[in-house]
Amino acid sequence: MTPVDLLDLDSLLDDEERQIRSVVRRLVDDRVRPHVADWYERGQVPARELAREFGRLGLLGMHLTGYGCAGSTAVAYGLACLELEAGDSGVRSLVSVQGSLAMYAIWRYGSEEQKQRWLPAMATGEAIGCFGLTEPDHGSDPASMATRARRDGDDWLLHGGKMWITNAPVADVAVIWARAEEGVRGFAVPLDTPGVSVREIRRKMSLRASLTGEIALDDVRLPADALLPGAAGLKAPLSCLTEARHGIVWGALGAARDCLETTLAYAGTRTQFGRPLAGFQLTQAKLADMAVEWQKGFLLALHLGRLADAGRLRPEQVSVGKLNNVREALAIARQCRTILGANGVSGEYPIMRHANNLESVLTYEGTSEIHQLVIGQRLTGLSAFA
Ligand SMILES: Cc1cc2nc3c(=O)[nH]c(=O)nc-3n(C[C@H](O)[C@H](O)[C@H](O)COP(=O)(O)OP(=O)(O)OC[C@H]3O[C@@H](n4cnc5c(N)ncnc54)[C@H](O)[C@@H]3O)c2cc1C
Repeated sequence: MTPVDLLDLDSLLDDEERQIRSVVRRLVDDRVRPHVADWYERGQVPARELAREFGRLGLLGMHLTGYGCAGSTAVAYGLACLELEAGDSGVRSLVSVQGSLAMYAIWRYGSEEQKQRWLPAMATGEAIGCFGLTEPDHGSDPASMATRARRDGDDWLLHGGKMWITNAPVADVAVIWARAEEGVRGFAVPLDTPGVSVREIRRKMSLRASLTGEIALDDVRLPADALLPGAAGLKAPLSCLTEARHGIVWGALGAARDCLETTLAYAGTRTQFGRPLAGFQLTQAKLADMAVEWQKGFLLALHLGRLADAGRLRPEQVSVGKLNNVREALAIARQCRTILGANGVSGEYPIMRHANNLESVLTYEGTSEIHQLVIGQRLTGLSAFA
């Protein structure tokens, strides 16, 4: 239990869930916390090394079954995401993109050969995957994607480009979504295929401890068996996003918890006007409001996780969680920043790093506005965007 857990929400978890949570928390304390400020400052992260360590603990494709995956519950996976993101959103992104996007796409839509080829290696972290849906000119509206796939004899030719792709600079395989004559199709593309080039996107002011890239596809020739046979239409990549968004619902709470715990400790020791900041009513009002939002966010995540484990989680329900928990986590990070005063902007404390990271989390996997529109559509029966 942490000081933020006012309601003893821990008691809603079972022993196994608490144990997984403790193991991941320890890993983050040992392997992420001591280094992450430096990675963030340098805009680098030892992604391969971390992937192997996460693989050893069974965190990659953790909620998938078979092919070396741990087959855990959605709630256990969510708790792992929370602990990883308490370290850094970029580190959680490495795991989410690997497990919920790249591995899930192959696991759900791939052929048996594709699963055998990629999933065991991805589960151990020996192979890294990425997921290419966004393009330079098409983000929120992937239905308009310009990347094309056309048949050439038995082969496929892919042409176009993907932008803002997490893990791309270090990945071995990309799940690429492209428009074919019959609609959107997915392909497992080894990144050493001739015609594929990857450029790292530098100068990000957010998610700096995560590698992001642009993938150019110049008439890339792929054998017929690169096609994910089960993925037909845009609903396939969107189903992968639903998986990953569930992890984000939990993950954002981790960043917020780290901000809150840091701030509680700081406000308890920093004195102004002869008393600790924590003793001022205005500070306590901020802390109380933030802790209340955190508890509500946790209850929401847990409810969605239990729905997922019962096989009943619907996309618009995940939108409720992603919209609320990322928005509130960002609000918490910004409010904590005020309590640390000038130290709030220093890299010596994690607050500004979390706040900056959460700006990306607010945008990727569907922006807040898109999730509002998804919820609005469900409420009104009218689509305001598609
Ligand atoms: C660090 C990082 C990592 C990422 N990793 C990946 C990845 O691994 N794979 C991947 O495929 N993508 C990835 N993305 C891309 C991300 O998913 C897109 O940025 C996101 O979908 C938004 O698209 P966009 O940036 O093109 O914004 P746009 O779609 O251009 O939107 C800009 C603004 O307009 C608003 N808007 C758009 N349409 C509407 C509408 N109909 N009504 C109201 N408002 C609207 C949006 O909400 C937003 O506020 C990543 C992004 C970042 C920042």
